[in-house]
Amino acid sequence: MNYESIKQEDPQILESILAEEKRQREGIELIPSENYTSAAVMEACGSILTNKYSEGYPGKRYYGGQENIDVIENMAIDRAKELFGAEHANVQPYSGSPANTAIYFALLEFGDTVMGLKLDHGGHITHGLPIAFSGKAYNFIQYGVNKETGKIDMEEVRRLALEHKPKMIVAGFTAYPRDIEWKKFKEIADEVGALTMADISHTAGLVAGGALESPVPYFDVVMTTTHKTLRGPRGAIILCKEKHAKAIDRAVFPGLQGGPHEHTIAGKAIAFKEALQPEFKEYAMQVKKNAEYLADAMMKRGFKLISDGTDTHLILADLTSKNIPGKEAQVALDKVGITLNKNTIPDDPRSPFDPSGIRLGTPAVTTRGMKEPEMERIADWIDRTIQNHENETELLKIKEEVKTMCVKFPVPGILG
Ligand SMILES: *Cc1c(COP(=O)(O)O)cnc(C)c1O
Repeated sequence: MNYESIKQEDPQILESILAEEKRQREGIELIPSENYTSAAVMEACGSILTNKYSEGYPGKRYYGGQENIDVIENMAIDRAKELFGAEHANVQPYSGSPANTAIYFALLEFGDTVMGLKLDHGGHITHGLPIAFSGKAYNFIQYGVNKETGKIDMEEVRRLALEHKPKMIVAGFTAYPRDIEWKKFKEIADEVGALTMADISHTAGLVAGGALESPVPYFDVVMTTTHKTLRGPRGAIILCKEKHAKAIDRAVFPGLQGGPHEHTIAGKAIAFKEALQPEFKEYAMQVKKNAEYLADAMMKRGFKLISDGTDTHLILADLTSKNIPGKEAQVALDKVGITLNKNTIPDDPRSPFDPSGIRLGTPAVTTRGMKEPEMERIADWIDRTIQNHENETELLKIKEEVKTMCVKFPVPGILG
């Protein structure tokens, strides 16, 4: 990016942007919810579209001057529908959390019973965390994973559904390494007359690229963020069956949000076009291959992974056997330029602020063009860093090795 104007006007902010550019270029990004969006998407997000108010929907706006905005938003809607084979798309949600809130607001009454995945088993805060809006406004019943297999216990899901008769069942995750059995969820929901809501924020890129099965044919509503594996700008979309379209649209605006962010919607439209290209299928497959390879390489080095592997882009490791808590591992890995996050493991005996595990994934490194040989090196660096986490000399050495590899793999939007 060219920062000429910020340089003139606000060198203090520019200094931090450039430092962040350097961090992104010289380090390995393994946070599974992060990615690098294209320069084209960034240009749209930085465009004059940010100046415009456009409350309402294409053709039904509350302000004048919408002739260009309507074209852009309609393109975003059409491409989202094409990409996911959806009957209806709302592209206005500011981000994943407000999108989930809008879905609940559209289809539930306050106090209704809903089922979602437990937070410490991989669910999201918007799936019923007691201190969050979702947990306060609705009666969330939480299902979890099987202790032995680390996989969602579909028997428990069915048992809880029969017992509690939820109005909606939410499926989807923020820290779970396995594919979701959408059909089975749908069967259980049908058995008890519940609505189905899929939150594919993490895996939307893999679904769009054909590397994972899509819930869109089965589920009433599907939400995804646009900035994770889908590699677009920070935001979200809601896809649904035509019969829910009106309720969803009214819940997003005026139910929850005011003016949509049309600069971001233009960025989403561009990202959807990119995801419709054949190269994106290859990207999605490689994300999965890299994750499988990295998981194997870690297990060969004695790491214990939840569910003993992955079907997705995401890996969850229990560091108990490595004698290091997740937080200390995260800090040591930060020092060598490897970014990931500490994470709870199912039924973690430790606190969420200092949990037993780490969560990592391959969407960002795959965007940079890294493949199996680089995954081998990454596994090795993670292992060495954890073994030497108190040895500053060794950590500095690893940091140099990481940087030397990283600068060979350009980050979109960052000039080498
Ligand atoms: C990331 C995520 C969200 C929330 O998205 P934000 O844009 O951070 O609000 C919701 N659900 C799941 C499963 C997620 O992974």
